[in-house]
Amino acid sequence: MIKVCKFGGTSMADGINMLRVADIIRADSARRYIVVSAPGKRFGGDSKITDLLYETHAEFLRTGTLGAAYEKVSSRFRRIVDELHLSFDIDAVLKETAAEIGRERSEEFTASRGEYLAARVMAELLGVPFADARDIIRFDENGRFDPVSYTLIAEALKGKRRAVIAGFYGADGTGRVRTFSRGGSDISGAVVARAVSAGVYENWTDVSGFLACDPHIVPSPVGIHRLSYRELRELSYMGANVLHSESIFPVREADIPIHILNTFRPEDEGTLILPTEKYLAGTKHLRTVTGIAGKKNFTVINIEKSLMNSEIGFTYRIMEVLLRHKISFEHLPSGIDTMSLVIDSEELSHGVLEEVRRDIEEAVSPDRTNVYSDVALIAVVGHGMTKSVGTSARLFSAIANAGVNVRMIDQGSSELNIIVGVDNGNYERTVRAVYEEFFHD
Ligand code: ASP
Repeated sequence: MIKVCKFGGTSMADGINMLRVADIIRADSARRYIVVSAPGKRFGGDSKITDLLYETHAEFLRTGTLGAAYEKVSSRFRRIVDELHLSFDIDAVLKETAAEIGRERSEEFTASRGEYLAARVMAELLGVPFADARDIIRFDENGRFDPVSYTLIAEALKGKRRAVIAGFYGADGTGRVRTFSRGGSDISGAVVARAVSAGVYENWTDVSGFLACDPHIVPSPVGIHRLSYRELRELSYMGANVLHSESIFPVREADIPIHILNTFRPEDEGTLILPTEKYLAGTKHLRTVTGIAGKKNFTVINIEKSLMNSEIGFTYRIMEVLLRHKISFEHLPSGIDTMSLVIDSEELSHGVLEEVRRDIEEAVSPDRTNVYSDVALIAVVGHGMTKSVGTSARLFSAIANAGVNVRMIDQGSSELNIIVGVDNGNYERTVRAVYEEFFHD
């Protein structure tokens, strides 16, 4: 089995951490293809290399030269090479990189150099080839990932026992470097895993996987050791941020599990994310609820009209208003004569809310509309909910016992999640009550 391992910014932050990474790789001969992020923060208040590189580009635009920010980048890498006692000529590489930054004059190129340099150093440390993502990860002219990359990667890595690949970037057909969105090395790792048909995509980070809820709300919540792709999608969409959300698709389509692991506690079990069927077949004791996630600051627009259901095109006309304003909605719970639009409040700021409400009133002539803001959404997620009778009763009694008024409920027909809307001020209390009910045993 081939394992593709991606190491995040904290794992690459300094020489000591890179040595841990090297130990992890050497401990398992299946760990063949290594994707790395740029060095991240070493301590609170420190800078991420990628942020320094964005600054480098801004400085370059202002002054036409590489200034203080690039000097900081250089000294971080010099120090890493020193700490690792490598004979690698980092000064020559930094000089060549500086010249290229000057020639390319592109923000994406400059930002990508953190991963480039980190991968060069890691390849040196492991004594394995460096594979430049510029040659094997392809973007189209609109900056979107091009699936031809799978073939390019497979060909480039064929016959290589091990290799280090820089995360976060690739290039378009003309060779111009393009980057994924921030945190995008997760995507690079997933793409490489798919290209080499890996048995597992190991994503090494600085936490031991997903927790059942936000540890800022409940101290030391239990870890989630197994998760299905669908549960992952629901939880990450609602704010559980361990992985870049786009990194799921390449591996999910190819049925490759993702294993989230902690570089600083490699013995921890982490979280194994599996295709839904494998997850359901292989999990002996399915918990009723797998995890709880949530976000604050939503606005609910309630639309009421008698006989709304028999009016052809009613929803269509509302959607047209949203389309016109380029607004996406999160949920659309509806009753017989009511429909609610749940929208991220950010999208409705600067007077947009008033315009949207007026346009909806014009479009469908409702009997009444009303709006309430400052709503928090809490997603209670788990395949186990389908199997156990009385989950909603338990959920809503727990919330009621905490003295919280529920403003909105939405349950997808998949029964994989129940979304509860409460006032922002009741968010933490509700999460705690739900956690106590389903995880305290
Ligand atoms: N270094 C890039 C960032 O900070 C990409 C990554 O770490 O995944 O966003």
